[in-house]
Amino acid sequence: MRHALTGHGASRGNALGRARVRLPHALEVAEEHVAADAVEGEIRQLHTAIDAVRVEMRNMRTRLHGALAHEVGEFLDLHTLLLDDPELLQGLDDLVRKGRYGADYALRLQRDRLAAVFEGMDDPYFRSRVEDIDHVIGRVHAMLHKREADLQGVAGEILVTDAIAPAELSQLQAQGVLAVVTAGGSALSHSAILARSLHLPLVVGAPLALQQVNDGDVLVVDGSSGEIVVEPNAADLRAYRGRLREEKRERKQLHRLRREPSRTLDGVDIRLWANAESREDVTGAHALGAAGVGLYRTEFLFLQRSELPDEEEQFRAYRDVVLGMTGRAVTIRTMDIGADKADRTGLALTNEPNPALGLRGVRLSLARIDVFRTQLRAMLRASGYGPLRVLVPMVSGREEVLAVAALLRDVARELRSEGHEIAEHVPLGAMIEVPAAAIALPTFIGSVDFISVGTNDLTQYLLAADRGNDALGELYSPLHPAMLLLLRNVIRTARARGKPVAVCGEMAGDAALTPLLLALGLEEFSLHPATLLEVRRAIRAQRLDALRAAAPALLRCRDRDAIDRWLRARAAPA
Ligand code: PEP
Ligand code: MG
Repeated sequence: MRHALTGHGASRGNALGRARVRLPHALEVAEEHVAADAVEGEIRQLHTAIDAVRVEMRNMRTRLHGALAHEVGEFLDLHTLLLDDPELLQGLDDLVRKGRYGADYALRLQRDRLAAVFEGMDDPYFRSRVEDIDHVIGRVHAMLHKREADLQGVAGEILVTDAIAPAELSQLQAQGVLAVVTAGGSALSHSAILARSLHLPLVVGAPLALQQVNDGDVLVVDGSSGEIVVEPNAADLRAYRGRLREEKRERKQLHRLRREPSRTLDGVDIRLWANAESREDVTGAHALGAAGVGLYRTEFLFLQRSELPDEEEQFRAYRDVVLGMTGRAVTIRTMDIGADKADRTGLALTNEPNPALGLRGVRLSLARIDVFRTQLRAMLRASGYGPLRVLVPMVSGREEVLAVAALLRDVARELRSEGHEIAEHVPLGAMIEVPAAAIALPTFIGSVDFISVGTNDLTQYLLAADRGNDALGELYSPLHPAMLLLLRNVIRTARARGKPVAVCGEMAGDAALTPLLLALGLEEFSLHPATLLEVRRAIRAQRLDALRAAAPALLRCRDRDAIDRWLRARAAPA
């Protein structure tokens, strides 16, 4: 029987396919016991499965690349940490040895035990970590039975589940899943951001999905409106086909913009840079006419291994991006590593009580001058092959900028004396991600050549809202009056001093927010190549003078609803 459900559209796109329903706590195993002489064998099997999952995760980690690689990687790291947890391992052994439980049931008991601890915590972040426990235990269970973690053969199907972790999303897409519907979650979560960049339709916050959809039901999913139709009728199928035609028309229209300028209706050219790390990103950026690379995250060179990359390896990686952009500038960010982001190299501290506020980004670089010098040497050597800019993450004030500038001068002198060919001037930029740096920008703007606003972290630190915590729902959003005011001030300060200023956080790649950023005075965006044409189209549909005239009204908005209304009034028809 046909019926419809609604959720929030989190990643655009349409899908028609059969449902694969994955119920929470898929580990429904009955109590089972083993004979005394089978105990050691059972434990061995468990350990073999755990080791195999560990290897599988490590392999998945090394295959990650692209803009969100380090964020997805963080989740994989977290899962690996859970697998290494002595409590978990000892607990399993004890359950089999002392309780004589079978491996499956021991896993189930351990899952429930850990989940109860997390669920009992006051902190919503920890409560939401139950998902991770389920994911990890589910994988071990699947491995014990040599199955792909309960999603084998999901190709051509639509996954309906309670929640989805980012690491799982990229895996699902590789397996050919058509779309994902989740009962919980928010459109601003990491999973949602990732789904958008993977172009995988995603509907979140459809609470009735698990009760009202059965395995094998035929579904039509609309990732824009958030509508899910179960057992669609003729009219639904017609509407679906209409949307597909519309999608195709849009893709064609976007394709035509590849060689067009990113120019507003009143003739102002906006610079679109690319956030690019992989070879595909660089090729894409080049083909779409990006101004250059606005953000090359170097962490991925450090994160997937246990030894630090040496100067030669880094030099070759940076040089290749510079060569790939054939004369367009490449902005290389110095390592933005912190706590959980580099545990295997031993570079970051792993026991910081509050890693997001800890020794990360430029703070870590300045604390490990030896490692930092190696990176700067590699960057400066690459500058001999084409225009290169150095960007420093997590700056909180003038001292850090001056320290990096002095080091850069010193390294340049050293390289020249060794006979290396390096650029005469390598522009130095600061990322504005810490509210203190945004507010105190006038104190150090004179010491940098350009500014790049990392709105992902700036939002997190300004609103005291963890960017990785789905439980915060809509709170983690740049659409807050304080954020708009801060952005306007940063842009205004930089422009008044004649310094280029770009936004390189996710915001810049969201075409729905393009009018807002233009109104605030932004003329440089740095975004993933996957979203470049949509933003170009949004720019081409606006008059800059009209948007600037509407900026005061935007800055008077008192809440998210008012900002949304301002945006809706200026949304260009697709
Ligand atoms: C940001 O914080 O907005 C940013 C671009 O840096 P990252 O997402 O790598 O932290
Ligand atoms: Mg950042």
